Amino acid sequence: MKWSQAFIPTLKETPSDAEVISHKLMLRAGLLRKRVSGVYTYLPLGLKIIDRVTDIIREQMNSLGSQEVLLPALQPAKLWKDSGRYEQIGKVMIHFVDRRGKEMVLGPTHEEVITDLVKNEINSYKQLPIILYQIQTKFRDEPRPRFGVLRSCEFIMKDAYSFDKDIDGLNKNYSKMHDAYHRIFERCGLKFIAVEADSGIMGGELSHEFMVLADSGEDLILYCQECGSAASQIKEDEAGRKCPRCSKRLSTKNAIEIGHIFKLGVKYSASLSATFLNEKGEAKPIIMGCYGIGVNRIMAAVIEQNHDKNGIIWPYLISPYQVTILAIDASYQPAVEYAALLYDRLHKENVDVLLDDRDERAGVKFKDADLIGIPLQIIIGGKTLQQGMVEIKFRRTGEVIKVRKEEALDKIREILKKEMVS
Ligand SMILES: [Zn+2]
Repeated sequence: MKWSQAFIPTLKETPSDAEVISHKLMLRAGLLRKRVSGVYTYLPLGLKIIDRVTDIIREQMNSLGSQEVLLPALQPAKLWKDSGRYEQIGKVMIHFVDRRGKEMVLGPTHEEVITDLVKNEINSYKQLPIILYQIQTKFRDEPRPRFGVLRSCEFIMKDAYSFDKDIDGLNKNYSKMHDAYHRIFERCGLKFIAVEADSGIMGGELSHEFMVLADSGEDLILYCQECGSAASQIKEDEAGRKCPRCSKRLSTKNAIEIGHIFKLGVKYSASLSATFLNEKGEAKPIIMGCYGIGVNRIMAAVIEQNHDKNGIIWPYLISPYQVTILAIDASYQPAVEYAALLYDRLHKENVDVLLDDRDERAGVKFKDADLIGIPLQIIIGGKTLQQGMVEIKFRRTGEVIKVRKEEALDKIREILKKEMVS
């Protein structure tokens, strides 16, 4: 992409209503804009990051043999009344009456819909186990939306559901999913911890939360600075308790929940009568697990953990572009031509590259490049090019190296080859 033709509306000033750093930087780097409180438009750079994250999720889900579906956002309220959660969720669920007089809701989650689907399609143990997942928009009527996409009314989630004939099968799927979550968050470049958690409104027996330590996080966890062990905090008075592993004092830390996995058991299959016939021909409720990831929250959590005073520092695998070329000497024709040549070569090799060919001062280009956080900057200026050199700047460290222009392409290939694997 050439910046002169791109829609990347960066801002010099931080909008006054943004409280946390991820929200401020998302607005300033032109990733998103607020529509109304808790509702956002994703601009091209923001959507590219969402796509990178969902690509990583799909790859891991598919590798487990999990299959993608797309469930409706629009759901009949009756299903929620049947499962017993209609009253429990309360005003957080957006509901209305359609023109036929039918009470409908916009799904804040999909256990009811998927259990009802499986109830009608699965009758025998021979059809189990199966894991289905989707990546979809969910809705919540938040009383107090805040912190940008960290607590919003409309957000993208990956939700997966496992269906088994026995607890042993559930345990296996749960542990496969647990491992896949580690790989997903590692590939996204996050430092995270998995903690055993209270299942809350989802019900079921056991759950794990995947938490990212960040000051802006609204969840509290008990964390051991010494050995890294952690627990989800249930009561205030647990701060000051000793670590069960190394007996150092535990401290309370703010964290962002990016994923949550649950052993649901028969909570939904029993209330919605989703049964199958076992080997003996007996009808039994299907054993279920559910597994969620907050896609937009990953984007915010990555920024919370990867930024400096100048802007975002994207990890290579989820960066909207891997390389940005800064043609900083618009009046020196050979530099403009060399930048265009390098851009074409990288583009042909399927490298995601952004060429800053705007008619702007070098200072503006440097500032914007640091702000949007592309990990590798190739700086092409008149003076250095006259010496036959170009500069490569690593956004994370700020380190700048000079390479001969004939060797620039090889050097970029070498860096990407090393960084694009995890
Ligand atoms: Zn410890």
